[in-house]
Amino acid sequence: KSPNDLALLLRTLQFATLKHSTQRRKDPEKTPYINHPIGVANILASEGGVTDVAVLQGALLHDTVEDTNTTLDEIENHFGASVRRIVEEVTDNKALSYDERKRHQIARAPFVSYEAKLVKLADKLHNLRDLLRCAPEGWSPERVLTYFEWAKKVVEGLLGTNLDLEEAIRLVMARKGVVL
Ligand code: NDP
Ligand code: ZN
Repeated sequence: KSPNDLALLLRTLQFATLKHSTQRRKDPEKTPYINHPIGVANILASEGGVTDVAVLQGALLHDTVEDTNTTLDEIENHFGASVRRIVEEVTDNKALSYDERKRHQIARAPFVSYEAKLVKLADKLHNLRDLLRCAPEGWSPERVLTYFEWAKKVVEGLLGTNLDLEEAIRLVMARKGVVL
């Protein structure tokens, strides 16, 4: 690993922070949005043992195209084709309806690249932990449980990618009585 990787990672973090700067998460405290991509990248590095910089960059950028004005071409121009591909694979198609997007994630999960599967596992793990900590305003316990059950169906299509992340997800799900 070259020292340049660190500069690259920090430049990516800077880019994602600017893009998400006006956004907040749905938790009651309305924490800064960037806490989530940082959390996803940290899960990959600290719990998943992931050292591939492109995957960590993909984690930092994973919600920029879906949730901000960022385009995939912009990602490619700044960070190259392999990072672009990862972000593309984890970005929901906004042209689809809510229900279609949810179904599409379940159906596509088994067919995305190894790198995208890692980001998707860490993304789900971070969101599930957040929901366990505190439900978003207006979310009933039933809605939280529905999210857990949907996430389980997505994760079933990602199994065999990273045992540490999958075990951590199993643990979080068990806390809600969901058996993965
Ligand atoms: P989602 O179920 O898609 O919300 C979950 C997503 O919110 C996560 O995947 C995550 O996505 C993001 N998120 C932001 N903050 C948090 C957090 N603190 N913890 C966990 N996840 C977080 O539903 P939406 O809120 O997007 O709702 C969209 C539509 O769904 C609305 O029109 C709503 O009416 C409808 N709906 C309503 C239901 C109800 O019971 N009232 C049930 C289902 C849908 P990411 O990682 O991409 O940021
Ligand atoms: Zn996310």
